[in-house]
Amino acid sequence: MSNINDSLNIIKTRNANEPEFLQAVTEVAESIFPFVEQNPIYRDNKVFERMVEPERAILFRVPWVNDKGEVEVNRGYRVQMNSAIGPYKGGLRFHPSVTLSVLKFLAFEQVFKNSLTGLPMGGGKGGSDFDPKGKSDNEVMRFCQSFMTELYRHVGADIDIPAGDIGVGKREIGYLFGQYKRIKGEFTGVLTGKGAEWGGSHIRPEATGYGLIYFVEEILKTQNLNMKDKIVTVSGSGNVAQFAVEKCIEKGAKVVTMSDSEGFIHDPQGIDSEKLAFIRDLKEVKRGRIKEYAKRFPGVTFYANERPWKIKCDIALPNATQNELNLEDASKLITNGCICVAEGANMPCTPEAVNAFNSSNIFYAPGKASNAGGVAVSGLEMSQNSQRYSWTREEVDQKLKKVMKDIHDICVKFGKDENGRVNYERGANIGGFVKIADAMLAQGV
Ligand code: GLU
Repeated sequence: MSNINDSLNIIKTRNANEPEFLQAVTEVAESIFPFVEQNPIYRDNKVFERMVEPERAILFRVPWVNDKGEVEVNRGYRVQMNSAIGPYKGGLRFHPSVTLSVLKFLAFEQVFKNSLTGLPMGGGKGGSDFDPKGKSDNEVMRFCQSFMTELYRHVGADIDIPAGDIGVGKREIGYLFGQYKRIKGEFTGVLTGKGAEWGGSHIRPEATGYGLIYFVEEILKTQNLNMKDKIVTVSGSGNVAQFAVEKCIEKGAKVVTMSDSEGFIHDPQGIDSEKLAFIRDLKEVKRGRIKEYAKRFPGVTFYANERPWKIKCDIALPNATQNELNLEDASKLITNGCICVAEGANMPCTPEAVNAFNSSNIFYAPGKASNAGGVAVSGLEMSQNSQRYSWTREEVDQKLKKVMKDIHDICVKFGKDENGRVNYERGANIGGFVKIADAMLAQGV
């Protein structure tokens, strides 16, 4: 009889050089192993052991020519992790920190996240170590075209449907989509996050940030609380952070921080709609830095090379990147009386921070549950493309709310302990696992 802990040791040895991937796998393993032991069919069929090996990982050369006429070379990847419940689905990340380990961790998380949405999507992730920062529009276009010139043969509307992630927004999706169409000669839903005029879904840009707040509202509801007048700290200032802040403002909460890789701004008066419009223009149009905000508005402090977790808050939303919130930060949040930490980014809290939250009074929402709104609306974009139809903003928003509520219900179902308290991490991991595991069992080895 196989022993699941022996399996974890094998997994650890095999992936010893992939720290981010191992971190994500270990975190899931720790919460699902007791469940797997109670349900030997999963253990005996080595379902978890199969889930941690990508079905396939593609690595390719991306040569392109910069504005000076020089040749540059980057590395491209697509990790096709699991297709048990649908075609591979997940974003593309363009950032110098991208490695196979980072993309395997993201693809692994994506498998669970997509399962939790209730939509028929498998999991994958891809990207490149290309850094769009400081590149001209034309350079970004040439890079995207070269990237798709290889990727096109591995993706398709019923095979693998990439989308955006860090460094890949509407602009990049446009260039990637254009190149796919040029090569294949067909207009299909091969990518999500497309512009609303050319096959994209309403609410897709907003979806991750909005969904995050809908999920936080569900958590607060269990305590008879709501967002009104809550102090919120946010990290990040990209797409997820901007729309999370927008929804917080709409709900009457007060967001006091935002950040980028150079530091964070603290605005004790709160970021209102006008100030948010400044940030949106700064980031999306000028591609500027968050410290400009402190120069523009009075009473604001910029903290260079720091993250916002020392600022007292009711709700903390790490929306930047992996491992941006460590044990020391977690201890500050706990001491300062924070109620809820919900991840808008993927794996922003270190394992030590997560353990600290789960043994405190803080409600900790893992990204695979709380940031699933983005990929959920990607799934809705796929449905609309298949129907050659598009739903209104209101229709998509309603569906997004329902998905986030359903994910919350799944977390409660699988995460409630003897005292009635919900461990959202366990709930999301087991809830995500069961559906994929059953599909894998049904489909044979
Ligand atoms: N990159 C997003 C995520 O982490 C969205 C993926 C998608 O829409 O396919 O879930």
